[in-house]
Amino acid sequence: MPNERLRRKRVGVLALQGDFREHLAALRACEVEGVPIRLAADLDAVDALILPGGESTTMARLLEPGLAGSIQRRSAAGMPVLGTCAGMILMARKIHGGRADQEPLKLIDISVRRNAYGRQIDSFEAEVESRAIGGTAPAVFIRAPQVTERAPDVQELANHGGQTVAVKQGNRLALAFHPELTPDRRWHQYFLSLNGDHR
Ligand code: GLN
Repeated sequence: MPNERLRRKRVGVLALQGDFREHLAALRACEVEGVPIRLAADLDAVDALILPGGESTTMARLLEPGLAGSIQRRSAAGMPVLGTCAGMILMARKIHGGRADQEPLKLIDISVRRNAYGRQIDSFEAEVESRAIGGTAPAVFIRAPQVTERAPDVQELANHGGQTVAVKQGNRLALAFHPELTPDRRWHQYFLSLNGDHR
């Protein structure tokens, strides 16, 4: 039964900085076990990974090379990865407006611009529509990035105000906003429906 499978899935949440607790709570609401990930060895216990929102420069600094390498290897082998806001920035191939020492994980073929909405409207909430979630869901944007380029096989799942705000490439899903800060769990459920690597 599909529900049985969902329940057994263990999903890691990178827990170095940012709103990883909210993602762990969202997973609990989906009746899925969430596992905080801090070290490369932690990744062995999970079937999928979430990179939370927060501050991508800080996360990049705290991410030890062993863990970054393991994430890249597992992702290449098909492990589903979801990145929200700062997590999207970490997943990108190229970052505009990043710190010089901010090396992205290059999990998804997009370029992003950090803090692209500017000071005037640096945070807002909007209703975002996507076929992936079967309708419209509230989305919280906080100093959100914008997708400036994407490879032809990167699918746009949602657009808001002419900007691509949700993308998918294979098992990698990146959102410019924070579904974890709303009570709507459909983006998490959509992520959980992606099938992973076989280990
Ligand atoms: N602006 C932040 C960054 O560059 C992202 C903000 C967020 O995750 N809400 O990392």
